[in-house]
Amino acid sequence: MTGDDRQVGAGHDLTPHPGVPAPMASLSGERSPFVPRRKANPADVRRHNRSLILQVLFPRERLSRADLARATGLTRVVVSDVVSGLLDEGLVVETGRTRESRPGKPGTLLRLDAEARQIVAVDLSQPAVLRGAITNLLGQTVHRDELTAEVGPAGLDPALVVELCRRLVARADAPLLGIGIASPGTVDADGVVLAASNFGWDHVDLAGLVTGATGVPTGVHNDANSAALAERQFGQGSADMLFVQIARGVGAGVMVDDRIITGAAHAAGEIGHVVIDPQGPACSCGKRGCLETEVSVPALSEAIRREPGRRAEIIRAAAERLGGALAMAVGVLDLPEVVVLGPPATGNDDFLSAAEAAVNLRLRSGLRSRIVVRRSHLGEDIVLAGESAAVLRERIGVI
Ligand SMILES: [Zn+2]
Repeated sequence: MTGDDRQVGAGHDLTPHPGVPAPMASLSGERSPFVPRRKANPADVRRHNRSLILQVLFPRERLSRADLARATGLTRVVVSDVVSGLLDEGLVVETGRTRESRPGKPGTLLRLDAEARQIVAVDLSQPAVLRGAITNLLGQTVHRDELTAEVGPAGLDPALVVELCRRLVARADAPLLGIGIASPGTVDADGVVLAASNFGWDHVDLAGLVTGATGVPTGVHNDANSAALAERQFGQGSADMLFVQIARGVGAGVMVDDRIITGAAHAAGEIGHVVIDPQGPACSCGKRGCLETEVSVPALSEAIRREPGRRAEIIRAAAERLGGALAMAVGVLDLPEVVVLGPPATGNDDFLSAAEAAVNLRLRSGLRSRIVVRRSHLGEDIVLAGESAAVLRERIGVI
């Protein structure tokens, strides 16, 4: 994932310090990556400048105040003022002097202290297990925890998610920046899960429940959006991309101009139940020929089980269906790449090249370059990393 990803306990003291973690209420404010842009007002300026400086230092730059002024376009006076605040908060530390050979007076170098705050990230997208982690500010895991949670006919009790968050918060050994939770389904900007059919959830105020129980600011986001954000922050994802997740269903995260698009009903990217063949197989939603009836893991597994000799053909046909279905969205939004996260059958070169050919067959023109369809190289922690990135974006504006 990130360069020197650490695992649980690897040379890191996990003993909680007494009196911490304390939620960092003063750090709130920069707009969420999951809500639309709004015009900045004068009260936002200081926060914006602070985010600019943290952004330039992220993840591992070592720069002087003069460097920061050049990089951000802010005046030296403003930079000194903001840096002074960041030093007081412990988010930035001094780390030696600039070299004599550089032009101008030697200055003090500054860097982000990745251990100054921690983030609790929770992934609800996996079957039968709720996964959680504490990460540092670079998205690196310093502690893991999980709860087994078979989802029965009654759905999933949100109290289990609260319990996992409580446990993680208790293990943090630096002040917490926030909690980020990735959930299947549609989620509004306040962290209310509007609908997650697998969990039997209808308007569950998950952010409110977790904040109430832990006192830590909490954000909740759709899991495919979270994975897309991780691909952008920690993978090779560009600022404009369609991130497609193939699992029990098919979902997508839409990133345009470095922002996750959520849509009017918070359902952007919910493409699994869009009909691609009105004469196709019956779908659990009551329609026929939804994308999920042809491309999801259960649909592919079943088709291959019935005709094992046609495996390669079945996978190629599914890829062509997917590419055909995505072409219009890719064309409308002028996206240069589609990133696919899925099981091995959909991560192989045959699947990806067939999907890429199908997209480009429909979009080929002199107006745009060839669209790239590639797999995500981020591993099973992609959603946890995405929530760490979401908290970082929401709480201190670093993208
Ligand atoms: Zn359907």
